[in-house]
Amino acid sequence: VAPPQAMEVRVKILFTSLCHTDVYFWEAKGQTPMFPRIFGHEAGGIVESVGEGVTELAPGDHVLPVFTGECKECPHCKSAESNMCDLLRINTDRGVMIGDGKSRFSIDGKPIYHFVGTSTFSEYTVMHVGCVAKINPEAPLDKVCVLSCGISTGLGASINVAKPPKGSTVAIFGLGAVGLAAAEGARIAGASRIIGVDLNASRFEEARKFGCTEFVNPKDHTKPVQQVLAEMTNGGVDRSVECTGNVNAMIQAFECVHDGWGVAVLVGVPHKDAEFKTHPMNFLNERTLKGTFFGNFKPRTDLPNVVEMYMRKELEVEKFITHSVPFSEINKAFDLMAKGEGIRCIIRMEN
Ligand code: NAD
Ligand code: ZN
Repeated sequence: VAPPQAMEVRVKILFTSLCHTDVYFWEAKGQTPMFPRIFGHEAGGIVESVGEGVTELAPGDHVLPVFTGECKECPHCKSAESNMCDLLRINTDRGVMIGDGKSRFSIDGKPIYHFVGTSTFSEYTVMHVGCVAKINPEAPLDKVCVLSCGISTGLGASINVAKPPKGSTVAIFGLGAVGLAAAEGARIAGASRIIGVDLNASRFEEARKFGCTEFVNPKDHTKPVQQVLAEMTNGGVDRSVECTGNVNAMIQAFECVHDGWGVAVLVGVPHKDAEFKTHPMNFLNERTLKGTFFGNFKPRTDLPNVVEMYMRKELEVEKFITHSVPFSEINKAFDLMAKGEGIRCIIRMEN
């Protein structure tokens, strides 16, 4: 692992976890295959060295890598409403550093590509300084590492974007890690009814721990799920958050919100040929549809505050962590994900 160049840092990764995006790109279905490549983007570590021009980070700082960055200078970074940085926004096709177009990993003189600017399945990795959030050194990295992707995405989709009013009713479509975090966000925001919608009934029991109060399995009904939800809630839910990636669920999540005030938020990443179809009357009737990326959190500015929410015990992360393995057994984490078992498996780099 080469030393960090200008505006880069080299980080010793202590804990990392596996997210669906790693599996998806590892399988290389429908995207540009780029191998050999080091995957991994949900992690926690300590800065080992810094390159020229880095002033905000120093060796010893505790950090969370983020797959999408924040340069702090572009129009997006300067806008209070956006986290879609022009310079460091996620790019799954780039396997090199943006500074010089080269990789910092090599084996026998041959380059190994990076993945989403993070490549955390490595004891050391090099990242652009804009993709690294400095956090409270007292926060346990073996826990808060899961905040660097999926959990913050779901949490932010609820608290930053859907913003359910106190006492409101929220539907969460998809009860994977992202959806459970969205349910947790709805609970923190003060929603009183949180309805989990999933085709897999085995997700329901676990989801109670994340604030879900009721469940709907679309398979148990002959009516469209929008109608089932409207009947349960006197006309529709106040907010919905879609965390499935399935376009039909996205349409249902929009059409199930109450007219006059309902807001639906899309989080799932759809199939590349997917098309969203709904009658325009659904908008005229004062329903709002939004989408969000990384829960609208700005990685460097906001992620340290999410860690503080955990430190103040406003957010529980332990319940998302269902497994833990040493780095030598990382393939077990892939097996667990393939079987849909548990939520997050922590991979310990040192033992
Ligand atoms: P997951 O596979 O663990 O969970 C998805 C859940 O949705 C599963 O329980 C599945 O049974 C359920 N589901 C699938 N189709 C459904 C349908 N039609 N109706 C109801 N339930 C359905 O996935 P995850 O890791 O929780 O991620 C969820 C989505 O969020 C993925 O599409 C992922 O790519 C996306 N994501 C988006 C961002 C972002 O920034 N926008 C970030 C991370 C992940
Ligand atoms: Zn920017």
